[in-house]
Amino acid sequence: MAIGCNSASSEFDGQQAFQYLEQQCEIGTREPGSPGHRQAKNMYLNFFKQHADTVIAQEFEQEIGIDNVTYNLTNIVSGFNMGKTKPLIIGAHWDTRPRAEKDPDPARRNQPILGANDGASGVAVLMHLAELMADLELDRTIYLVLFDGEDYGYHGDNTYFCLGSKYFVDNLPIPQPEQVIIVDMIGDAQLSIPMERYSYRSNSQLMKKLWKIAEERGYDQFKYHLGEIIYDDHVPFIQAGIKAIDLIDFYYPNRHMNYWHTHQDTPDKCSPESLEAVGQVLYDYITGK
Ligand SMILES: [Zn+2]
Repeated sequence: MAIGCNSASSEFDGQQAFQYLEQQCEIGTREPGSPGHRQAKNMYLNFFKQHADTVIAQEFEQEIGIDNVTYNLTNIVSGFNMGKTKPLIIGAHWDTRPRAEKDPDPARRNQPILGANDGASGVAVLMHLAELMADLELDRTIYLVLFDGEDYGYHGDNTYFCLGSKYFVDNLPIPQPEQVIIVDMIGDAQLSIPMERYSYRSNSQLMKKLWKIAEERGYDQFKYHLGEIIYDDHVPFIQAGIKAIDLIDFYYPNRHMNYWHTHQDTPDKCSPESLEAVGQVLYDYITGK
């Protein structure tokens, strides 16, 4: 290291990722069956085809018995460095929630949310990672997976949550992954990521490794304590015997206020710095730094 070179420069550009967060929100709400859902799907397919070695649109019909509807859902799977061993999935959900049941205004609780943090933030990190990975030679195959239908369900019943990741696990369109990292709700401007408990039980070694990278980078958004149990897209993998973790900050923006599943989940509550911290940690991990 040269004299005067005191900190690692960051490759992951939070501003760039934030533009992708805004771009998704400009489409509008992206809940299953909506015009925004169709438009976002096409945007993602076009985007990832420009950067990945291969892109698979895993389409399926999902019956929602409780609402007596059937939706066409799609997981979007982008492969990088194909043909290597130890495949790693980095995943995020791309659908947004069809109802804002936590909104302070009862009249608007049946309306879909914009999902700047709850949806767009994780995908924004994956979009910028795709650009960075396009030119990288890595020692393992990496799949960036956008899961559909994560956020449809009704609270108290997990049946209609994580629809895309459940379908993916039951119908693997790729070789069995060695590890899975899910990112969800990581755009919060007041980002604070504890160690989610299912994740810690599944792969504490990987969690410690990521937290160590964050510490070395000086990202204090990663907290060295256990958080709550959260049912997210990592759980279907764990149930199938695949090691999986979830990077998630459930308290949005903090423990005293709530934008989660409300119409306040908009880009102004998110920040480029938060996206950069998570994106750079993932980048360092996959490049072995
Ligand atoms: Zn949600």
